[in-house]
Amino acid sequence: MAEIKYCYRHPSRETRVSCATCDRPICTECMRQTEVGIKCPEDARLPRSARAGVMKTNQILWSLLAGVAVVLLGLPVAYLASQFGTGSLILCGLGGYGAGLLILRAGGRNGGPVAMTIAGVAVALAFLPFVGPRLLEGNISPFAILEPIVAIGFAIYNSRGS
Ligand SMILES: [Zn+2]
Ligand SMILES: [Zn+2]
Repeated sequence: MAEIKYCYRHPSRETRVSCATCDRPICTECMRQTEVGIKCPEDARLPRSARAGVMKTNQILWSLLAGVAVVLLGLPVAYLASQFGTGSLILCGLGGYGAGLLILRAGGRNGGPVAMTIAGVAVALAFLPFVGPRLLEGNISPFAILEPIVAIGFAIYNSRGS
């Protein structure tokens, strides 16, 4: 059974609900329904500007979806890159450039660490099936290591936002 708590604004009222942000117990009269759960009146009132630079939940979801798309679209690009020689660095650069832009736009153009992480991981995952085994065998040319690094670099750079 859940522990019985008392509303922090009304110490005589029992409640089992607490604020999603500060975790203080709140009674049914005090709780505010927000898009990210039940909150105390103080946290529900926080202006949007207090969260500036941080992506909203749906923007993170869109970024993750874009990340999945980047992995799927990146697989053939990474495969082609692994088949060709010198020209493939340009292909990797363009691929990473596009991947970064896609993830930045999907995330509402906020950019920042979340978008950059998604971009980097998504591009790395696209290269993994082609570069990973060779890397493990130690049978890889410096050039083949450079390809994913170029692509990941462009993707992270482009998703950084302003
Ligand atoms: Zn609170
Ligand atoms: Zn209360």
